[in-house]
This record gives sequence, structure tokens and C-alpha cells, in this order.
Amino acid sequence: MERFRLDGRVALITGGSKGLGAAMAEGLSEAGASVVVTSRHLDECEAAARRISEKTGGDVLALEGDVTQKEHARANVSAALDRFGQIDILINNAGTNVRTGTLELPLEEWRRVVEVNLTGPFLFGQAVLPTMAERGYGRVINLSSILGVVGLAARSPYTATKGGLLNMTRAWALEFAPYGITVNALCPGPFDTPMNRPLTQDKEAYAAFVSRIPLGRWGRLEEVASTAVFLASDASSYITGAAIMLDGGWTAQ
Ligand code: NAD
Repeated sequence: MERFRLDGRVALITGGSKGLGAAMAEGLSEAGASVVVTSRHLDECEAAARRISEKTGGDVLALEGDVTQKEHARANVSAALDRFGQIDILINNAGTNVRTGTLELPLEEWRRVVEVNLTGPFLFGQAVLPTMAERGYGRVINLSSILGVVGLAARSPYTATKGGLLNMTRAWALEFAPYGITVNALCPGPFDTPMNRPLTQDKEAYAAFVSRIPLGRWGRLEEVASTAVFLASDASSYITGAAIMLDGGWTAQ
């Protein structure tokens, strides 16, 4: 079980102030890692960091950073290195969604989703991967989605970016394997987070999603946390370039 522990490891999680990011931050902290959470709103990040560290007793650093800005990625990484000296685990979690038909979608909305979901992970990869390569160790987890693997109507930029992120994960796995870095995609089905409030507050939409899930329910936050801990730990040392489906069986059909 030692191989599942993260003592002495340092994790940076983008969009770590709420939803899946905060749940994974808490899980990693509970497993022994020092954690850096970043998002555009420092107050939200600080609140999440306080809550997590009170619960786990771990060291949690909150930073302000917009993943679409190259300078923010660089500044976040250098602040994390100043504080902890290393980054072992990068979770590219920050993401956004828009649920609009393809023909009605304004170009600015398309561009916004591409910037957050695809350019953001690219920029954080560019900032963190060299530091991992230098040390010959790293774990990168990219938050794709079931919608990186299968389609859904009225989700053009989301499906395109999550599919793109999944395939960039495979390219990174090949490019950085010689440096002892594993890179995997985590593909959740529906979880109750702020992103999904429009679905969870709409009884019909919620039930329509449940009807497509063989396990018959939405995911639980502790389930994304435990999967992230596994992928971040030495227990997953022979897994790279994989898409880990965390979807109650949605994509098995
Ligand atoms: P959420 O909207 O609840 O939280 C997203 C987080 O990202 C927040 O902390 C937000 O502040 C941050 N963020 C958004 N834009 C940002 C930016 N430009 N720069 C920095 N931070 C930014 O989302 P969530 O449901 O927790 O989803 C987390 C990730 O998991 C996303 O990539 C999402 O696409 C993916 N995902 C979620 C689900 C789900 O059911 N919730 C399913 C599949 C995939």
C-alpha cells in the first residue's frame, strides 16, 4: 500500500478551487502530497486551500492564475518551485463548457472553450514538463471527459477540445517517457460540480443522464479523488498514454 502514498510529493492542480479540482486536491493532500491550487479567483483558491489543509493537516498553497495566459502559467510554476522546490504531479483540470447548438454558437465562445480546455493544458505542460524532465520523474493527469471519446449533441467545442486533449496526452506520453514522466487522461462521466449545475437543477436532464449510465447514478467526488491519487502515485508506474474512463460504464455501451 506504500506505493499508493504521496508523502514528499508536490502536486499542482489548475482550477483547484472547486468541483473535481478541489476534490482531487483534497485526495492528494490526504495521501500525503503538498498541493498547489490555482484558479482565476485567489479568494476562492485560498478558501479551498484553508478548508483542505484544516481537514488533512497538509500543506496547501493557493495561487491566482488564468490557464489561458502563458505568463500566469510561468508565474504559478515558479511560485510553486519557490515554495516546495519541485513539482512531481501536474493535474490539468481547469476547464469550461458551453451547451449551445453548433449553428448558434458565436465564434468568441468557440475560441474561449478552446483557450481554456486545450491551450491551458498546453501552456501548463510547457511550464512544468521541463522541471520534471530535469529531475527524471513526473506524473501528468489531463482532465478529458467521456466527451473526449464519444459525442453529444450541442457540445461542439467541448467535444473537440476534450478529444484533442486526449490525443495530446498520448503525444506527451511518447515524448516524455524517456524522462520518467507518465502522462494519462482521466475521462469522467457526469459529476455534480458547479459546471453541471444547469443539469443537476433540471430533473429531466439529470434523469436523462442517469438513464445512460449502467451503474445507474452520477459519479461521487471521492471517486475522482481516489482515481487521481492512483494515477499520481507509484502504484500506476506502468500506465502511460492511457484514457482512464471514470464513467459508471457510459462508454462501455
Ligand atoms: P467546475 O466549473 O466546477 O470547476 C472548474 C474549475 O476551473 C474552477 O476552479 C474554475 O475557477 C477553473 N477555471 C475555469 N476557467 C479557468 C481559467 N481560464 N483559468 C484558471 N482556472 C479556470 O468544473 P468541474 O466540473 O470541476 O470540471 C473540472 C474538469 O473536469 C474540467 O476540465 C471538466 O471539463 C472536466 N470534466 C468534468 C465533468 C463533470 O461531470 N463535472 C465530467 C467530465 C470532465
